[in-house]
This record gives sequence, structure tokens and C-alpha cells, in this order.
Amino acid sequence: MRPFRRPARRDAGKTRPTTVLGCLRPGPRAGAALIAAVTAATVLPLAAPQITRRFVDDAIGGAGTRHLAFVAVGYLALAVAGQAARTLTAWLASRLAWDGTNRLRERLAEHALGLDMTFHGRRTPGEMIERVDGDVAAIAEFVVAFLLDVVAGVLLLAGVLVVVLTVDPRVGAVLLAYCVLIGFGMARAQKLAVPSAARSRAAYAALAGDIEERLAGVEDIRANGAGEHTVNRLHAASGRMYRAEFRSERIGSGLLAGTSVAFAAGTALVIGLAAWARQSGTLTVGTGVLLFQYTQMVRTPFERLIDQLRQYQAALAGVARVRDLLAERRTLPEPADPRPLPASGPLGLRLDGVGFAYADDGEPVLSGIDVTLAPGETLGLVGRTGSGKTTIARLILRLYDPTEGAVRVGGLDLRDADPASVRRRIGVVTQDVQLFAASVRDNLTLFRPGLADDDRLREILAEVGLGDWLAGLPDGLDTALGGDAAGVSAGEAQLLAFARVFLTDPGLVVLDEASSRLDPATERRIERVVDRLLAGRTGVLIAHRLSSLARVDRIAVVEGGRIVEYGRREELAVDPGSRFARLLSMVEVAR
Ligand code: ATP
Ligand code: MG
Repeated sequence: MRPFRRPARRDAGKTRPTTVLGCLRPGPRAGAALIAAVTAATVLPLAAPQITRRFVDDAIGGAGTRHLAFVAVGYLALAVAGQAARTLTAWLASRLAWDGTNRLRERLAEHALGLDMTFHGRRTPGEMIERVDGDVAAIAEFVVAFLLDVVAGVLLLAGVLVVVLTVDPRVGAVLLAYCVLIGFGMARAQKLAVPSAARSRAAYAALAGDIEERLAGVEDIRANGAGEHTVNRLHAASGRMYRAEFRSERIGSGLLAGTSVAFAAGTALVIGLAAWARQSGTLTVGTGVLLFQYTQMVRTPFERLIDQLRQYQAALAGVARVRDLLAERRTLPEPADPRPLPASGPLGLRLDGVGFAYADDGEPVLSGIDVTLAPGETLGLVGRTGSGKTTIARLILRLYDPTEGAVRVGGLDLRDADPASVRRRIGVVTQDVQLFAASVRDNLTLFRPGLADDDRLREILAEVGLGDWLAGLPDGLDTALGGDAAGVSAGEAQLLAFARVFLTDPGLVVLDEASSRLDPATERRIERVVDRLLAGRTGVLIAHRLSSLARVDRIAVVEGGRIVEYGRREELAVDPGSRFARLLSMVEVAR
């Protein structure tokens, strides 16, 4: 039997569910299999006490050993079948839940990746992990538990009541009243348990966030001797979590003890009733045993329901947060009539009175930026730290839209351009290069297997001067990078980032230079690669080292979000009144 498809591989072109429920809904076959399994898991245990009754009554009535053995084997078969049905239900339920939640996870990850920098700038990686994974896991756990414990439990409970009512309406009535009472008590107790569970979950999220941030900054923390402070904070956060968890545990075990006592009392009541009925001659001993067994069967579903009430709250909170995330819209509107950037050759660039602020009501970071580059021309951006150079780069990459004016590439306002062609035709190397814990090949192609074959990858690595580096790797292109696996220096990381850009062959490149981490030899290597990259392409270079600008056509000096000087490099360099010439002479003095 193969009731399920594996969790959705991305089937291209297939429309995928967009809502939480849509993602979780099983296919018809899987649904039917589950219903059958749940039914079997409910009905089979219900039949067991009937056999016990038969056994007891027949034994008292003096039946032969053969007959009794036959009944006993029947009981055994039923018990095994019942357990098998329960195992099958558990397996089906978790398969179903994981299929559904994997679809949901993919949907969320895809959605989150489509959201722009305004969204991601406001969130830490830890928070995103918790939202995409933590919330979905809470939902998955609940779906499994709901199917197993709530649905199966309620069915079993109803079955027991119906059977007992038919066997002996008096005992049935008592059992029913008793269940109603316990149910009512539990609903009250749940009001106590849920807020404490919510508190302990919040404390856990805070602790996880704290740890994530500290681990990300471990280099800085150690270098600055802030370790002790960090451990103290961790201690305080753990303390909060301990107290929340302790309280929630205490309430939980109190509930458990309460139900144990209630069930013991209930059992005594039913046994007493049965003894009384037996004495008045209306009940066989076998029926007494049967009633006792049914009373025992009520307990497990109730206990499971208590457990579920907690998870139910967590899952509801998870669903609400997942919905919130899915409701986040891109702030960069998709063009109504997207037009692709020219598919080949260098692209012209024009910033037309561009102004920008990161927050809606915030201070403008850029204003009145005008830049024009003909196809193939290069621009060097210089300016103090915080002056707005990286922000200009982000606008050229359309990570944000300008709040005033327009960015035009290849004659097209970026807001009207097809986003896929923007990604393809505009390349970037940023200040900090992100390497992934993956092979050299995946780090170059960014996990797009069809992008280039291995020969082309080797050729490009040689072109950026990493030929020897590659030759020294134990497994060539298959060598794992990332983390500290195969130490990649800052310079090598930069060169790898250049190789990525070479791969897609863009018509406009933006290079946001790493400020000062490289040794002179690596610097020269990078300069040579930059020259090669810029040949036949339009380029914007953000440079902290003026030597990197030796060959650009134009220079723009940025100060406080404005361009305070703009012109051809050779002209500015020889104009003694220009800021650029002054910057150059400062470098000369330093030498
Ligand atoms: P550096 O030379 O240090 O790289 P820069 O010239 O690239 O500096 P930007 O990163 O563009 O400077 O920053 C310009 C201004 O915008 C700074 O005041 C900075 O604090 C602010 N800024 C940068 N990024 C953001 C952001 N994501 N959200 C809010 N403000 C930001
Ligand atoms: Mg910068």
C-alpha cells in the first residue's frame, strides 16, 4: 500500500495551496485510509470486554477447557488487531501531518524569501526560523495529536457510553453523569493550565533568541571580553524559563493527580453498583467484569484530552502567526506589465533625483541623487562611513524602491522591469560575502544545478585567480565550504563572490568593497579581477581604497546622503580645488 505521495517536490507549474488549511488537507486516498484506521482503532478495543464477559460467564457456567482456550485466543487476536490498528493510525497520522506541514513550511519559506528587505530588516534570523519552523512544528504536533487523541479518544468515549448504556442503562447513566462531571472539571482546570503554558513558551522563545544572537556574534563577544556578561544574561534567561516551566509543570501534575483520584472514585462507584446489581440478581459476574473494563477505558481518552488542550492552544497561536506571515505583502510592488532588461551587453544607468528613507516617517538617507552612466562606463562612489553609498547600491539592485525620483537601468525604470531579469542582469559583490555550508559548486551556482557545468566553473575560478586554491582542495568542486570546514580567507571569499558574478554575466555590476580586511597581495589580485569584470560592463564601485578607483571613468563624492562632487575622474584628479584631489593628496601624504 502506498497511500501518500512524498512531501511535495516542487512540481513546476502546479498551483500550490496558499492557505494554512489548504496546505494541511490530505488527499482523498490518504484521508480514507486514515478514517478506516481510526475506526478500526476505536471499534476493536470496544469489542474486547464482550469477550472477557463471555469467558467469565462460561467459566462460571462450567465450560470445557477447549472452549475457554478458544475464547481466550479470540481475545488475544482482537487485542493484537486493536494494537495494530492503533499503530497504523499513529503512523498514518504522523505521515499526514508531516506531508501537510512540509507543504506549509515550503509555502512559508517561499513567501518569506519573496518578501523584500524592508521586511527582513525588521526581523532577526532566529525569529524567522522560529516562525517558519517552530510554529509549523507546533501545528504538526497538534494535527497528529488531534487525529490520534482527540478524534479517536472522543469516538472511543462515545462508543463506551453507548455500549454500557445498552448493557445496563443504570450503570450507563451513572457513567455518563460521571463523564460529564469530569469533562466540566477539566474544562475549568484548563483555564489554569493554558496561560502558564503560554508563559513558558514565551520564555523559551526569548532564551532561543538570546542564544542565537550571542552565537552569531561569538567572534566579537570573545574578542571584546564580553563573555562573562553574556553568560550572566543567559543565566537570567534560563532562570525565567525555569520558573515558567516549573509553574506549568506543577499545574500539570496537579491536574494529573486530581484526575487519578476522580477516576479511582468512579471505578469504586461502578464496582459497587455492579455488586449491588449482582446481589439483586440482575447482573452476571461476566457483565460486572465487562462494566469494570469499560469504566477503565474511559480514563485514557480523558487524560489524552487534557494533554491536548495545552497543545491546542500552542497550535492555535501557531496558526495565527503563520497566517500573519502569509498576510505580509511585498512592499516592492510587482510591475503590472513587466518588461525585461536588455538580455545582453552593458546596461546604461541613470539615477534621476533619487531620494530615499529607510522608514516611512524617518530621516531621508539620500536626497537629490543624479547620476548618469552610459553603457560600459564606470563610476566610483567615495564618501565617509554612513554617507549612503551602500544605500545607493541597494536602490540600484532594487532591494528597495526610491521614495523620490527613479532608478533607470537600460532605459527602464526598475519599478517597471521584470524582477527576474533585474536579478539576472545586475550583479553584485557586497561588503560581507555569505558563504553557505555546501560544496564549492553550490556556493558558486547558489544551488542552481543547471547554471553551469563543472568545466565552466573551473574556468571561472581560474579567471578570478582561484585556480591554485581549487587545485589544493581535497575534493575539488565537491569540497564542503562554510563554517570553519575548509578555512576560506576573507580575500578568497571575495574572489568567490566575483566568480558568482562572472557566472551570470550581468550587464551592470555593483561592487561594494570590503573596507580593510585584505593584505596588499590579495588586494592586487582583486583589483585585477575587478578590471576583468568591468571590461565590457557598466560598473558602480564603492571604494574605501582610492587605489581601487584608478581606472573608473567618473567619481561621485557622497556626503550626508547627497552627491557633493561629481565629474570625470581625470578632471577631478587634476583640479586642486576638488575634494577628490584633496582625498588623493591625503593618500599621497600617508605614503
Ligand atoms: P560604509 O562606508 O560604512 O559602508 P555607507 O556609505 O555604505 O557606509 P549606508 O550603509 O548607505 O552608508 O548608510 C547610510 C545611512 O543609512 C546611515 O546613517 C545608516 O545608519 C542608515 N542605514 C543603513 N542601512 C539601514 C537600514 N537597513 N535601516 C535603517 N537605516 C539604515
Ligand atoms: Mg556601505
